[in-house]
Amino acid sequence: MQALIIDDSRAMRSILRRIVTDLGWSTAEAGNGQEALDLLEGGHTPDLCLIDWNMPVMDGYTFVQRVRAEPRWRDVTLMMVTTESEHGQIVRALAAGAHEYVIKPFTGEAIIEKLGLLGLLDQEVPA
Ligand SMILES: [Mg+2]
Repeated sequence: MQALIIDDSRAMRSILRRIVTDLGWSTAEAGNGQEALDLLEGGHTPDLCLIDWNMPVMDGYTFVQRVRAEPRWRDVTLMMVTTESEHGQIVRALAAGAHEYVIKPFTGEAIIEKLGLLGLLDQEVPA
């Protein structure tokens, strides 16, 4: 599985990278929504995008809108990971097409639980 981590904080990208690489996933990173869109335009096809809201150039909300406007990217799962915790913003993001919403600070377990709910851990090897 492939995750695209989109956050303007290098520290946050590194925390998220650690969580998904521990699951055996590969990762790519972008510092804002535009960089992430450029990767997708260039043919990068992640299974999952982990998306900060507040970023320079293009914020995560706009990124979600742009991805959802393109049928060719309909299979990409979008998860917001953000400090924005107002109910209205969560509703906006989900209405725009985000599948899940995680509020910072978060635990690795919270992220993994959401991945499970999204059916993205189905490739786990049975114990
Ligand atoms: Mg940010």
